[in-house]
Amino acid sequence: MAEYELVIRGGTVVTAAEAYRADVGIRDGRIAALGERLEGADILDAGGLLVLPGGVDTHCHIEQLEPDGTVNEESFTSGSTACLAGGTTSVITFASQFKGHGLRETLSEYHRRAKRAMVDYSFHQIITDPTDAVVRDEIPEIVASGIRSLKVFLTYDPLHLDDRQYLRVLAAARRTGAFVTVHCENYEAIRWRSAALLADGRTGPKYHAWSRPPVVEREATHRAIALAELVDQPIQVFHVSCGEVAEEIVRAQARGLKVWGETCPQYFVLQASDMDRPGFEGAKFMCSPSPRSHAHAEELWGAVRRGTLDIVSSDHSGASFSGDKGKAVHGNNAPFTMIPNGVPGLASRLPILFSEGVAKGRVDASAFVRLVATNPAKLFGLYPRKGTIAPGADADLVLWDPARKVTITNDLLQHAIDYTPYEGLAVTGWPVITVKGGLVVMRDGRVQAEPGSGNFLPRGPYEMIQPRGVLPDGFHAARFLV
Ligand SMILES: [Zn+2]
Repeated sequence: MAEYELVIRGGTVVTAAEAYRADVGIRDGRIAALGERLEGADILDAGGLLVLPGGVDTHCHIEQLEPDGTVNEESFTSGSTACLAGGTTSVITFASQFKGHGLRETLSEYHRRAKRAMVDYSFHQIITDPTDAVVRDEIPEIVASGIRSLKVFLTYDPLHLDDRQYLRVLAAARRTGAFVTVHCENYEAIRWRSAALLADGRTGPKYHAWSRPPVVEREATHRAIALAELVDQPIQVFHVSCGEVAEEIVRAQARGLKVWGETCPQYFVLQASDMDRPGFEGAKFMCSPSPRSHAHAEELWGAVRRGTLDIVSSDHSGASFSGDKGKAVHGNNAPFTMIPNGVPGLASRLPILFSEGVAKGRVDASAFVRLVATNPAKLFGLYPRKGTIAPGADADLVLWDPARKVTITNDLLQHAIDYTPYEGLAVTGWPVITVKGGLVVMRDGRVQAEPGSGNFLPRGPYEMIQPRGVLPDGFHAARFLV
């Protein structure tokens, strides 16, 4: 009898540190061995291909509930299909608190819905209303249940927190050993500038970028970091769009703070000028922070190479373009302030980053693996089960053709959303086979996985997000207030 259930033979294994020729032996859904001439009951020929750890997307919106009773168009089944098609095998999505409500009621609903997932998953808990009961009772309870990250918005109605509320969430995270992720844009500045734009009759999609220039993001990033320093609470800044925002993170890291930064493919390839396309077309490119320019994208690559930004997530958002939901929910002439934000990107994340990064010589293949798999797994407590190729890790792998040239169309991406902002984008490098838990779940674009085959990933305490123990005056304010 063969020693392994499945052997991936003859590929180039790429990890965060190196690339080398090896066979991968898989047993019981896990990687059991790396070596030469391994024998298995099943063999996958990976000659000429890269063997990568399955992508880990730690920022994507799937089947998210809205206060008005509607739900994000991307379901856990369609979203999983898109993930597997694009080489991603684990996600962290969001459970969102509704203002005026607690956390438990919605979190159980997310657990119920995610039972149909075909990728492994966890949640970030969005806090929109940090009442005494939420801060004192519910946050410790949900963290103990394995939801080890909280997400806060410093802008957006009705999600945004003011400084005091943000401090309370930081303090609750500090007390319970949770991590905090932050959407950094200045709420009042955007409202003020948007009102002025509308008063001047500037309502089209392109003015979305004018409503939130880089300074608005930079200010909020600075404030988010400063308040986290005050509480001694580690944070990650979500979706950094340009160099001047990354500079805030550079300064924080130089002071020794535990601050991490993420960016997304849209900031490498989309531009504010895309929102200036005729008619309503520009709405396809609308996300927050706004896409900037190719010059800003080069600044981001610099920040990636220096390690300031060390994760690339999709920030996949489920809003279609046509029809009466999604982008056009308020009609095709709606002012930019009424158009839902966000762009889809579950399946395009790896191909765009590989093409723009590795194929164009900006980063090497190991850096690519770090950005899309290893670093997200480490920062969010999933490592070494996820994000690496090593004995004992889950056998979540992607066989990747580094030379294949593909022109992106929406059909290839297999999400429920009716468009992609990357339609017509030429990329080099494409996933050929995705393996999850030792099973082939995607081959040449055909996804075959059982709804419900995805597992919830509870996240316990881990070293990386422990506070530094450095507090102004040595005074631990979070201990004395709810
Ligand atoms: Zn998001």
